[in-house]
Amino acid sequence: MKDGLSNYMDEMGFTSIEDFRGKAIPTVSDWRYLNLNHVSKAVINQDSCIQCGRCHIACEDTSHQAIINIKDGKRHFEVREDECVGCNLCVVVCPVPECITLRDLQPGELDQRTGKTVSAEHADWTGHPNNPMPA
Ligand code: SF4
Ligand code: SF4
Repeated sequence: MKDGLSNYMDEMGFTSIEDFRGKAIPTVSDWRYLNLNHVSKAVINQDSCIQCGRCHIACEDTSHQAIINIKDGKRHFEVREDECVGCNLCVVVCPVPECITLRDLQPGELDQRTGKTVSAEHADWTGHPNNPMPA
């Protein structure tokens, strides 16, 4: 863990813990305020993909089986938008920086997974019909 922290600080140009202590706090939110209408899909950059297969295995075993590993009889990794839930797992396991990115669907776009159009309105758990204690 010490080596990992040291490497991270070197990469980021930090010389002291004080350089980044508390930086993420302004972005922390309670889960019930997260926007349920936010939809993202993973996208694989075919030019930088080294075809290691990590993303396929991760998504296949622990997420939504949304990354194919064969196309036209050849090894090929591509996201199925009709299955991807935008969980970010494949992004974390990919060894090539920026090879997999998440694309936010814009209001009016069709979410192929749900068959619904993405709404521009914010909707969260506080106003969800299944919430027994709405705000
Ligand atoms: S974001 Fe999640 S569901 Fe989508 S392809 Fe990656 S691991 Fe699979
Ligand atoms: S983990 Fe990254 S490099 Fe490996 S197959 Fe998937 S997209 Fe390609």
